[in-house]
Amino acid sequence: MRPVCKRCTVCGKKYFVEILELWAYKRSTAAGTKYFCSWRCLREYDRNQANIEARKVLTGRAAQIKALVNQGLTDAEISEQIGVKESTVYRWRYKI
Ligand SMILES: [Zn+2]
Repeated sequence: MRPVCKRCTVCGKKYFVEILELWAYKRSTAAGTKYFCSWRCLREYDRNQANIEARKVLTGRAAQIKALVNQGLTDAEISEQIGVKESTVYRWRYKI
């Protein structure tokens, strides 16, 4: 079997893989399998994905709070509806 040339998703380095199925530094995503040159790059990718997910949750919550603020709800009411602390609602209210 001929080695396959791959480009690392994180650092862009080219490297050769003998048997693609046995390559450990990879992740399956909705868009297909991503390959990495090393454990270090794989870890970096995982970290970035976790950050993206965390940001999505935060953005979703901000939008939720904004909608309720627009409806004229008080911090206490919003806090109760979406299950976050009143101080959090207060912080987001002035951020948006
Ligand atoms: Zn890399």
